[in-house]
Formats: sequence, C-alpha cells, structure tokens
Amino acid sequence: MTSASSRQCTTAHPHSASPLPGAARRGRFAPTPSGRLHLGNARTALLAWLQMRNAGGTFILRMEDIDRARSRLDIAAELLTDLRWLGIDWDEGPDIGGPYAPYTQSEREALYEAAYERLQQAGLLYPCYCSRAELTAIASAPHGLPAEGPVYPGTCRHLSPAERAERAARKQPAMRFSLPDRPVSFHDLVLGWQHFPAGYGGDFIVKRADGVFSYQLAVVADDAAMHITDVLRGDDLLDSTPRQIWLYEALGLPVPQFAHVPLLLGPDGRRLAKRDGAIAIAELRRLGVRPERVVGQFAYSCGLIDRPEPVAARELIPLFDLTRLNRIPSLIDEAWRM
Ligand code: GLU
Repeated sequence: MTSASSRQCTTAHPHSASPLPGAARRGRFAPTPSGRLHLGNARTALLAWLQMRNAGGTFILRMEDIDRARSRLDIAAELLTDLRWLGIDWDEGPDIGGPYAPYTQSEREALYEAAYERLQQAGLLYPCYCSRAELTAIASAPHGLPAEGPVYPGTCRHLSPAERAERAARKQPAMRFSLPDRPVSFHDLVLGWQHFPAGYGGDFIVKRADGVFSYQLAVVADDAAMHITDVLRGDDLLDSTPRQIWLYEALGLPVPQFAHVPLLLGPDGRRLAKRDGAIAIAELRRLGVRPERVVGQFAYSCGLIDRPEPVAARELIPLFDLTRLNRIPSLIDEAWRM
C-alpha cells in the first residue's frame, strides 16, 4: 500500500483547523464493544483522554454498537470498568449522560436516518446489488487496497434503469455514497499533511443490505452532533478519514481536527487482535496487575516518560505533547510482562 504522504494531489479545500481555545475543545473515545478492551485500544484511549485533559477540554465516551449483531452488552459494561481502572474518566458518556445523549449508537438511529435522507435527497447515494462473491473477486484484484476494504470499482453506479429494476427484483441492495470527483487534504496533528486523490477507496457503503448504517456514516453524524472538535484514534483508521471528510462536506458539517496515533503491535509485529484474551485489560485487572504499571508502559512506549516506571494516568496530563509522541508503532515484548 502506498503511504498516504506519498500520494500526489492538489486540492482547493485543504482541512486544517485553526487552534481552538482549550475549553472549547471536545474529544472522544469511541470503542466498538465487539471485543474486550486490549492494550492497544486502551493506549489510544489514554492518549485521547490526555489530549483533552491537557487542553482543558471535554472528554466524551461513545459506545459504537451500531452493528448490534457484533456488539455485546457485557463487553460494553466491562469497557467502562477497564477505562476507569486505568484512571480515565469522561465528562459525557453512556452511563452518565450529557447534553448530546444518548451516547450509545444503537439508541441514535434516527440521527443516522436523517443524515442518510439528506444524502439521498442530494442524489449522492445509489443502490449496489453486488453479491459477496462479486466483491470477493474485486478484493483479489491486483490494486492497492485501503485498510477499509477493496476499492469498489463503481459497478452499480452506472446501471441503466432497466438493469437496476432487474437486479432489484432479486436482491435487497446496500446503499453506496458516490465519491465527489475531487481530492482531499487534511492536516493531521501526528502525521502532518495527508493527501488523498479523488476516488480514494471507491464509493463506500453507508447502509448495508440488512439495513444497518455503516461506521462511516454513523461516526460522522455522531461526531458532528456531539460537536467533537478533535478526533484522536489509531492510524489503522487513517484510510477512513478521506471518506469521512467527503461525508462532512456533503452534509455541510464542520470537519474536526484529526490525530492518528501509531498502533501498539503484538510481539510478532502484527496488529493486536481483539480476540486475543491474554492482553485484555480486564484480564490484567483480574491478575492483580496495578493500573499504574500498565499506564507506565503506555507512557514509556509513547515517549511521554523516559523509563517504564509505574505512573498514574493523571500524572501524565502535564507531560502530554503530541509533537513528542513516538511515531513508530511499538511492539509488546518481554518488557511488557505484567
Ligand atoms: N469504533 C471504532 C473502533 O472501535 C473507532 C471509531 C473512531 O475512533 O473513529 O475501531
């Protein structure tokens, strides 16, 4: 995959937020409760929390359970306990409410429906009848694949009315967003300027055939409705950002400031899997590990402290500085044995 910074393009609409006063800043952590909170997600949560606490802004917790079939109530509850155990608190969230409640996606579908209707009325959506087999064939085609999935070549975008009617009789469609024909650029607080060419990633799904709204649509509708000014998340989601910016633009909504932080990788250098129970925070908690040890490892791996010594999350607030963040993905190795 080409690195984002090496992609060439020009744009008349670069997104670079001017700094807001700290108290006006609103950041969030938005976990999907489909797997237990692991070391990697927890480190990202700590950074998102530190960013807001250091700035004097507001920190929001949002439960992203829009895909109900994959989400679990017990995991959602465990996530809250894990975060609090680490010393992370929130000003608005599923358990404490706030001015933009509810903070659980499965209770916010009317908002996604409204955003979807606006896109539909603007003529920016089209039905896609491609089967799983057709999409799998696309996935094995030899072109650069964004992390989000294969580039959709627009097969169903140009169907004639007769072809559409014929397919509609056989299959419930997913709905795709037609990408605008322009590139997108934005300034990332960690990665610097990012440029993505027109059409990057292909037209993406905003509503699945089973009626579930996509992550891309829900996250944009929620971040805008909750007046989120700062999105700090793992750099595995960098590929989603141009898509989300195109959605913000289509909906006439302000684009937040992004910061994509490096991931924590497993000892084999591969992405930590949510299913890997051994590194679940709840498991460390059960084993009697002190949260300060976990937070100390996080802070050291991010470059916020010089030695992997135990530290309380709140002690890191004055030390937080995204410009000092270690930009190389960190490996969990022997030193992490807790
Ligand atoms: N819910 C997403 C996840 O757990 C993160 C969404 C975001 O931070 O934009 O991967």
